[in-house]
Amino acid sequence: MDKKRIVIALGGNALGNNLPEQYVAVQTTSKAIADLIEEGHEVIISHGNGPQVGMINNAMGAYGRMDPNHPTFTPLSVCVAMSQAYIGYDLQNALREELLNRGIEKSVATVITQVRVDEKDPAFFNPTKPIGPYLTSEEAIAAIAEGMQVKEDSGRGYRRVVASPKPLEIVEIGTVRDLLTAGEIVIASGGGGIPVIRQGNHLKGVGAVIDKDFASCLLAKELNADFLIILTAVEKVALNFGKENETWLDTVTVEEARQYAAEGHFAPGSMLPKVEAGIAFAESGPERTALITLLEKARDGINGKTGTRIRLN
Ligand code: ADP
Ligand code: MG
Repeated sequence: MDKKRIVIALGGNALGNNLPEQYVAVQTTSKAIADLIEEGHEVIISHGNGPQVGMINNAMGAYGRMDPNHPTFTPLSVCVAMSQAYIGYDLQNALREELLNRGIEKSVATVITQVRVDEKDPAFFNPTKPIGPYLTSEEAIAAIAEGMQVKEDSGRGYRRVVASPKPLEIVEIGTVRDLLTAGEIVIASGGGGIPVIRQGNHLKGVGAVIDKDFASCLLAKELNADFLIILTAVEKVALNFGKENETWLDTVTVEEARQYAAEGHFAPGSMLPKVEAGIAFAESGPERTALITLLEKARDGINGKTGTRIRLN
């Protein structure tokens, strides 16, 4: 297959749920990414940060309760920045090593990425993005008492939810392009990017977590990518997911995907943003393909063997 430009969006299972898990998970993740690089593709990586950003926010809160000189509240924008740095650190090192093991000398760099949102985005009044760990009903009640918003997450338990405004502009996109032109592997827009609003020359961080699927879609469009690959915990997207008449999807058009979404086949906060991001990418050009599949299936997916593909027609 000829060389493609691919934006890979890594989901939670590519990173694990805590520090030791992440260290191990990024090794497997790096193998899947290195497979694509070895095949000659140009790869840009982005990733989620739901569990990590919640963990950092809670950790900063716990520290603030111990040390009265330290605020208990750390803005979510800062927590996203921290998550980009520490996930990027593990990921860039693991990928660097995997490439060197295969005799490929390429540098891998993480770009701390800010993403502009609209301060009037209605999402600020309707938090939907799950962050942090799953909560028991007792923990959920305690979190609500602390002023947090909590929702049920796709039948898997309760989770804190925060505002998830739509990404409008990737502030550091020029830097990402320059690094790509120089032949480097870039990790960008991690955790959906640090949400900021523009105030003249000043970029102000805001309390939100942008969905990484939408941010990755914007990144893929801005970089004129051929593929947006969303790697997650399922090999394919299903109709009637988890029901008796469950049907796995192979290739769907933008129009079909829209129809299925309207019929409520995709859970909000998990599969729906992926399908919506896939639709937005695919409809931005007939040569653009969105692919949703498992991490281990990335190469097979690119080669048309598995995964769910969304195309304009
Ligand atoms: P990630 O961390 O990769 O973003 P999410 O947990 O947010 O992963 O979303 C993937 C999950 O979406 C799957 O593991 C599955 O449980 C759930 N899901 C909801 N609806 C569907 C569907 N229609 N088809 C497949 N998976 C679905
Ligand atoms: Mg998700």
